[in-house]
Amino acid sequence: MFCKDIVTDGGICDECRTKTEYLKIPQTARDINHQCFKKLDKCISFYYYKDIVRDSILYAKYKSCAHFLDGFEEITGVDFGRLCEENNIDEIISMPAHKSKFYTNEYDLPQQMALRIAKNNGLRYNKDLVTKIKKTKNQHDLSLTERKSNLKGAFELNGEVKGKNILIIDDIISTGYSLEEVAACLKKGGASAVMAITFAYNKL
Ligand SMILES: [Zn+2]
Repeated sequence: MFCKDIVTDGGICDECRTKTEYLKIPQTARDINHQCFKKLDKCISFYYYKDIVRDSILYAKYKSCAHFLDGFEEITGVDFGRLCEENNIDEIISMPAHKSKFYTNEYDLPQQMALRIAKNNGLRYNKDLVTKIKKTKNQHDLSLTERKSNLKGAFELNGEVKGKNILIIDDIISTGYSLEEVAACLKKGGASAVMAITFAYNKL
């Protein structure tokens, strides 16, 4: 998953396993509690966005995501099916990307991750439940205050979510503004609870 070495089982070599061990977010701290979370009820992340974890995400996004997809569930050490069951998740979505992204050489990693989790655990992935209707500037290029306004009105709900519990999958969380904005969109439509899972946490 990290170094592209061929391994017989598990998808991760011993050396990478050791290297990633210190990038793991302690189990007790995995429920990232951001100041901006008013609509998002919960966000679980597994790794700090650093070193080989960062490299593996960038490789998956811009080169090939096959290794990443084969390994990410196992390396978190979490049973996603059980996690969804415990949180009574009705539907899985991924962080929506604007259609202009379809014409770039970037893989929609959140979507691929969500598809994999849904498939491996017999859950429903609802691709178009929330869509991104506004082309926003890259969050990384903006100041913290600009990041919030950049996302206003960016997402649209296209289905019935009344009383449902929704899980959003994303690759990285940093400020959490995007996830909060999608959660706001779902809550406005009547969703009971909105939870997020991200592979990495970019602590600013
Ligand atoms: Zn390795």
